Amino acid sequence: MADEQFSLFNAGGDPGADPSSVNFDAIPTDGALPIVPGIYPDLATLGTHCRGCQRCSLAATRTNVVVSRGSPTAPVLIIGEGPGQQEDEQGLPFVGKSGQLLEKILESVRFDTEKDVYICNIVKCRPPENRVPTAVEVNACKGYLLEQIRLVDPKIILLTGATALKSLLGVKQGISKVRGQWMEWEGRLCMPIFHPAYLLRNQSRDKGSPKWLMWQDIQAVKAKVEELTGG
Ligand code: SF4
Repeated sequence: MADEQFSLFNAGGDPGADPSSVNFDAIPTDGALPIVPGIYPDLATLGTHCRGCQRCSLAATRTNVVVSRGSPTAPVLIIGEGPGQQEDEQGLPFVGKSGQLLEKILESVRFDTEKDVYICNIVKCRPPENRVPTAVEVNACKGYLLEQIRLVDPKIILLTGATALKSLLGVKQGISKVRGQWMEWEGRLCMPIFHPAYLLRNQSRDKGSPKWLMWQDIQAVKAKVEELTGG
């Protein structure tokens, strides 16, 4: 069965295909089977398929699939862990209190959240009670994220929190230890940063506090984007 699904999936895997020619029925519902790199011709097609996804058990409890928001040509791609309650209800990532804080952080260095960033999550469906997604769920969903990165082709990837860092880069260190460090992954420049939810729980702005450190990090990100885009 698995081999059959895989060969069917490959049969529809033309990276340059018109969206109407992508055979959604051929995409494996078994989350253990990978999503073939290059399968989606564009983000709209990815979104259409992702919203109907049944690749892992999170499909049973979600309200909406939370694919992304922001610009499909953004220089900065921001990755969170997974949707929370408000994200699940609205179908958009980072729209709760964490999202509002993230917007403030981005706006503080004059990033336009409609133009300069593309925001998505490691898993596109809400884990019940906001628990950390399991390895099985992360692996089932990872192909969408890899395709989002390929299609957006950002200059910089920001990983908010330890789960995003571990799930994409395989780095298991605590976020406090590695935040603000530039890392290279698949030829792309990445930086782990605090998750905004962590900053909400740590309100101090004193020098050395998480909020103060985030301010240093976002300024470094802004400077790097300007350096890379000549902007
Ligand atoms: S979390 Fe990802 S893999 Fe699982 S059902 Fe949702 S979109 Fe599909």
